[in-house]
Amino acid sequence: MSARILIVDDVPANTRLLEAKLSAEYYQINTAYDGFQALSLAHSWQPDLILLDVMMPELDGYETCRRLKADPATHHIPVVMITALGEPSERLRGLESGADDFLTKPVEYDTLLARVRSLVRLKRMLDEWRVRGETARALGLSTEMPGVPSVHGARALVVDDWDLGAQAAQDALAREGVLPGRAASEAEAMALTAAVPFDLIVLSLSMAHDDPLRLASRLRADNATHDIPLLLIAEPEQRDRILRGFDLGANDWIVRPVDENELRVRARNQIRRKFYQDRLRSDLGQALEMALIDPLTGFYNQRYLMRHLRGLMASGQANTVSVLMLDVDHFKQVNDRFGHAAGDKALKSIADVLRGRTRVFDSIARYGGEEFTVVMPGAATQDALIAAERLRAAVAEMVFFPLPGVQHQLTISIGIGFSNRPHMTPEQVLHIADAALYRAKRGGRNRVELPEAAEPA
Ligand SMILES: [Mg+2]
Repeated sequence: MSARILIVDDVPANTRLLEAKLSAEYYQINTAYDGFQALSLAHSWQPDLILLDVMMPELDGYETCRRLKADPATHHIPVVMITALGEPSERLRGLESGADDFLTKPVEYDTLLARVRSLVRLKRMLDEWRVRGETARALGLSTEMPGVPSVHGARALVVDDWDLGAQAAQDALAREGVLPGRAASEAEAMALTAAVPFDLIVLSLSMAHDDPLRLASRLRADNATHDIPLLLIAEPEQRDRILRGFDLGANDWIVRPVDENELRVRARNQIRRKFYQDRLRSDLGQALEMALIDPLTGFYNQRYLMRHLRGLMASGQANTVSVLMLDVDHFKQVNDRFGHAAGDKALKSIADVLRGRTRVFDSIARYGGEEFTVVMPGAATQDALIAAERLRAAVAEMVFFPLPGVQHQLTISIGIGFSNRPHMTPEQVLHIADAALYRAKRGGRNRVELPEAAEPA
């Protein structure tokens, strides 16, 4: 699907010009002739990019942009301001109102198209994360987005072999509260980015000894630096290299002589976008974790267990996986006699015993209500038997108070499953363990049973 671009300008001739140019590139275009119309269309049409005129009656471009960026429904839509005013102070004002870039009329179309491509690409990537984050939130697995994050304490890397230029950039960043580092060569930049998680890379296109565009492309290809915003510093006559840089994945640019304030605002905008992206990602990780972890015991749930076991068995360790299937004896009585809170307390106490008495590389899951499984990679039946016996004894020795002053004896029964031939499935191993558990129950509970066919060594 082609990207949607909203063009906002109070002069119809201007919108028509831009529309003709962008339609030729197969973008879908919508137009607005004032700020209010722009806000309303941004909401209802959800464009991928907004080209925003600055000088408009009533609501001007700055205020329109501020409102777009303050609204959670539109704040993620990139905005490029377009104006006849080329003054640094105007540019700064635009960037400070949240614009992603600021182009001057007459619009240079190659530059505009390069910016559009780059910003739309970024927006699409963020959209993916947003959708997943929204799903997580809809499921109650995640929290609301916080407001605008501070960039204080963020780390930036300035890559420039010109000492004075690098120092000026570092000073500007430091005044923004950002911690700046410096690399004077491509090799140094690669080494530093591998060691430090930067939130921004400022790259000079005027380096004498290395090719900055090759570095840009390496940074984009490398997993560790792939998503770090990349801000280019260029000479005015390096237009073609800037455009090339955008196609390689650069996110922003600034022209020499560098205006300190402009660099600060551009850096701030880029770092905030990175933090927003990080936040979306960690929300997703949290949602994923919550979908796989039992909140009562903190153990993995059955869904995770099956995946984990399948992975282990597929990795060629199939003949060395043991599984313990544990069940709390007469658990229903605990609930019936002392209430469900006491039942939860019993499960938590048993979980603590299991956690404290298994190896670090064993994984424990809450399989069902009062059923637990312990997956023991590399453990033969005999090891599993020793471990199971240890767990059974520890639970039997545990002193448990379901209610204050009331003591109750808890015990567990354990069945052992063992993957003893290739091509067994996790389901088969669990079935063997389950059958052994059944025998332990039938045999009087508070017992450990081996798989039917297994011979203790
Ligand atoms: Mg105007």
